[in-house]
Amino acid sequence: MNRTKIIATVGPACANKKTLQKLISHGVSCFRINLSHGSARDKASYFDLIRSLEMPSGLRPTILADLAGHKIRVKDLEYPILITKGDKIALSNEKFENGTIPVSSRVRFQKVNPGAQILIDDGRVSLKVLEHITDQTLVCEALEDGAIENGKGVNFPEIALDVPVLTDQDEKDLLLSLQKEADWIALSFVRSPSDYSLISSKIKEAGYNTPVMAKIEKWEAVQNLNSIIESFDAVMVARGDLGVELPVSKVPLVQMEVVEKAHQLGKPVVIATQILDSMTNRPVPTRAEVSDIANSILDGADALMVTGETAIGNHPKKVIRVLRGVIKETESAINYQRNIEMPTNKTTNTAMAISQAACSVATHQNIDVLVTMTHSGSTARMAARYRSASRIIAMTPSKKICRQLSIVWGVSPILVDEYESADEIPIVANKVLKDNGLLKEGEKFVITGGVPVGVPGTTNYLSVLKLN
Ligand code: ATP
Ligand code: MG
Ligand code: MG
Repeated sequence: MNRTKIIATVGPACANKKTLQKLISHGVSCFRINLSHGSARDKASYFDLIRSLEMPSGLRPTILADLAGHKIRVKDLEYPILITKGDKIALSNEKFENGTIPVSSRVRFQKVNPGAQILIDDGRVSLKVLEHITDQTLVCEALEDGAIENGKGVNFPEIALDVPVLTDQDEKDLLLSLQKEADWIALSFVRSPSDYSLISSKIKEAGYNTPVMAKIEKWEAVQNLNSIIESFDAVMVARGDLGVELPVSKVPLVQMEVVEKAHQLGKPVVIATQILDSMTNRPVPTRAEVSDIANSILDGADALMVTGETAIGNHPKKVIRVLRGVIKETESAINYQRNIEMPTNKTTNTAMAISQAACSVATHQNIDVLVTMTHSGSTARMAARYRSASRIIAMTPSKKICRQLSIVWGVSPILVDEYESADEIPIVANKVLKDNGLLKEGEKFVITGGVPVGVPGTTNYLSVLKLN
């Protein structure tokens, strides 16, 4: 089992049952649907497709529904526009004459001055504004050769455009995602902790309690990092937009900072974009990509997320095989003993102290299995924070919680029957470990949970048992 989880973006290159099932067998536990692309019908069909799949655990894979947010995109282009350095080219959301780059969104360009940079497709193409013709049309100069393709994002990094947190499209996509039982919602372009209140109240209004992940990709988010991580249920380092909104040289340190803060606050953290970018077209990764993956694992990412590599790439299956291989190799070198001994995580309450103690007991006694009995998932998430060598088997009676946990480092969620009293905990655990062949008779396991049963956040129980 890979402890570092793999999230793969679904798109035309892999959207069939056979390929996705193969990706699962290579280690994917969660699929992301990027709601920026495709019609409402395409999006619905992706949800249905993923819901028809099965994981080795018997459950379907986790779905991460990624809301587009207010991103301007190239639209209505049948063929790419090829540009050469020095070319003069118009960009407009009003007049679509031949050769003009047509862009979406009703944003007005009144704040865009000549000299400003415009970056397309995560910065693969850059333009400079020459002339502000109207609030809807700009004339630009190409700063290098390139191809402008339909659907690619257009960023204005030097300009703070006054845009809403959720667009009308996002509201529709959110409702679709909830109805289709998405397990996680990702919110693009988060700027402040109040963005969480906004989206979570929409989710509650619709009658759901789906957790929300903040995509860190704006400089405002980097400035409000602590309060954003505190408010949201998880975070993603969305390196694509981050690397155009901020100077690209800042991306590695921001990534480290986000991972560290997420650990301190006990929230899952996903690293995304250009993980194996060169494999979109080629069958082998660059050495730099492989090193980046290893470093992200050593930094402590919960999950790594591939985007275009599986959505539109030529080698979706190979991408996951390579990723799994690097994860396996790198994880074998982690110093788990040291993780436990590090006094970095302050234990401020009983639940944290018990979780840390559980990891410590497992490590010092060389016990491979740490069982957490959990209703809300919090006990398992807490145990994962300490990055111990033992496998965290999260037993929960909720399918929803099982799926939410499958993006968390080191956690193998297992669905169990509802249990009512603390007395049942050892019995349930014993049976499940035995039925799943996770331990042999006489082998020890550590078990932790909360008593009374069913009250969230009451991790207060720790025991070492022998399988019988
Ligand atoms: P985001 O800002 O949310 O990352 P993106 O446009 O960069 O959006 P990614 O999900 O990073 O999109 O994927 C990379 C590329 O893969 C996209 O630019 C797009 O061309 C393609 N892609 C992703 N999902 C789909 C899809 N559902 N349908 C068609 N193409 C897709
Ligand atoms: Mg992207
Ligand atoms: Mg983005």
